[in-house]
Amino acid sequence: MTHTERRTQIRRINRLIKKWHQVLGLDEWRVIHEYVDGASDMPHGFQDGGYVATTQANWQYCEAVIRWDVRVMAELEDEYLEESFLHECFHILVAEIGDEPHGSEERVVTKLARILMRV
Ligand SMILES: [Zn+2]
Repeated sequence: MTHTERRTQIRRINRLIKKWHQVLGLDEWRVIHEYVDGASDMPHGFQDGGYVATTQANWQYCEAVIRWDVRVMAELEDEYLEESFLHECFHILVAEIGDEPHGSEERVVTKLARILMRV
């Protein structure tokens, strides 16, 4: 992926940060968006490909990192990227109660993201 293509993908996320972070209360968090170029640079457990993003939240300190795979992002329509963005943001917001089985957390954040996409 070229430098320009990568910047285009980062700009898409910056637009979503402006649109959603404050609405979701994430301006009170320290949320870092990181960008990787391909699945091999994703964290352990997410390297088998197809993941557009993964989120790690330290809710005790209100800090989180969302890692985006710019190659997967480039394949996504705006609407699906926005839903994915909301999905990852909700992972941050529910991290504190994340002791439930992981599959349950996935269902909850997927549902919440889809609800917001109706607005
Ligand atoms: Zn998820």
